[in-house]
Amino acid sequence: MSESKPAPDTTRQVPAVTGEDEVVDLCRDLIRMDTSNYGDHSGPGERVAAEYVAEKLAEVGLEPQIFESHKGRASTVARIQGEDPSRPALLIHGHTDVVPANAVDWTHHPFSGEIVDGCVWGRGAVDMKDMDAMTLAVVRDRLRTGRKPPRDIVLAFLADEEAGGVYGAGHLVREHPELFEGVTEAISEVGGFSFTVNENLRLYLVETAQKGMDWMKLTVDGTAGHGSMIHRDNAITELSEAVARLGRYEFPVRVTKTLRHFLDELSDALGTELDPENMDETLAKLGGIAKLIGASLRNTANPTQLGAGYKVNVIPGQATAHVDGRFLPGYEEEFHADLDRILGPRVKREPMHADKALETTFDGALVDAMQTALRAEDPIAKAVPYMLSAGTDAKHFDNLGIRGFGFAPLKLPPELDFAGMFHGVDERVPVDALKFGTRVLDRFIELS
Ligand SMILES: [Zn+2]
Repeated sequence: MSESKPAPDTTRQVPAVTGEDEVVDLCRDLIRMDTSNYGDHSGPGERVAAEYVAEKLAEVGLEPQIFESHKGRASTVARIQGEDPSRPALLIHGHTDVVPANAVDWTHHPFSGEIVDGCVWGRGAVDMKDMDAMTLAVVRDRLRTGRKPPRDIVLAFLADEEAGGVYGAGHLVREHPELFEGVTEAISEVGGFSFTVNENLRLYLVETAQKGMDWMKLTVDGTAGHGSMIHRDNAITELSEAVARLGRYEFPVRVTKTLRHFLDELSDALGTELDPENMDETLAKLGGIAKLIGASLRNTANPTQLGAGYKVNVIPGQATAHVDGRFLPGYEEEFHADLDRILGPRVKREPMHADKALETTFDGALVDAMQTALRAEDPIAKAVPYMLSAGTDAKHFDNLGIRGFGFAPLKLPPELDFAGMFHGVDERVPVDALKFGTRVLDRFIELS
């Protein structure tokens, strides 16, 4: 635009609408845009959400850019100038795609954005149009009221996270790294939500680590032959035994820095020493988050696909299986050694898709800012680190040396199975939690 901008007003204006007022509508608008990601280009794409986000950012004076990596696969990026541009910048990133939803399984239509029982319902309500909406609401409020952040903030609303981010974060990091110049830290999804321990303590799980991914194909070559004969070299038999051994194998518990820190905090909170070697007992006390924590204790390898044969009386010459492997930060080599030992020499193991593990420490000014912002809105809040068993776009930004945290703050009712709603049916987020998160994020930015 060529129009000259009005001089910034240094007195704080009274806004017609606040971030808290807006956040719910922003979230509902985003949910109503079907941005299902089927893992290829057959879905609707994220273009509609990218344009919506760009419009909302342009309204408050930013100059967002839309990047299309493939037809319809679009991401939006904008930079907000901070009070002190010489300081390293903070990245806030969110993805606008969602995993598909089968409407017949849902109580309320997944793309309706309906408000029922105090919650906004729909695909993306927790993963992660909630955080997209909170980010938009906070940024819009701050810019409308002339409150610059203390340092530069880069906002990225990204395509394709649900299929590995190749057409979103991966594309931008590869093709447009200049967008993230000066960024050293980032916040994004799958962290910052609450787990109520008792009336004196509510933990907020901040993600500081992610497991690595190792999807693999297993192959056994045998001797083909007639199904009626005595046959000692059957590929299916060999492979099945190996797959069963692997599927039943319990990898040892490994106490990563993140797990140690989490257990120490929890031990303090509960007033009892928690033994990582006896995690069954510990997990029993963790209710809804037991699933999350349980998956971060050890490497895992789950067989997910099997293939062999084409006719009942023909012994095939080959059998294959696919395995979803996940390893802890620092335990990739051990994982591969375990796999080779368990599978044995007959099984050929080939990588299909691999991604690194991440782990950062839970300390520094940014973590203090999270702690203080949470505490200001919830007096019994305590932020603790945890490890995510899956991956996010943080892995792409790690390639630029950006330290990532999962911090999308939500104060949740204790009975809500939040962890179970990621990619699940009846995904929903409490209206109060969205407003809480908006207030916390605003304070967090002020302190960051
Ligand atoms: Zn997500």
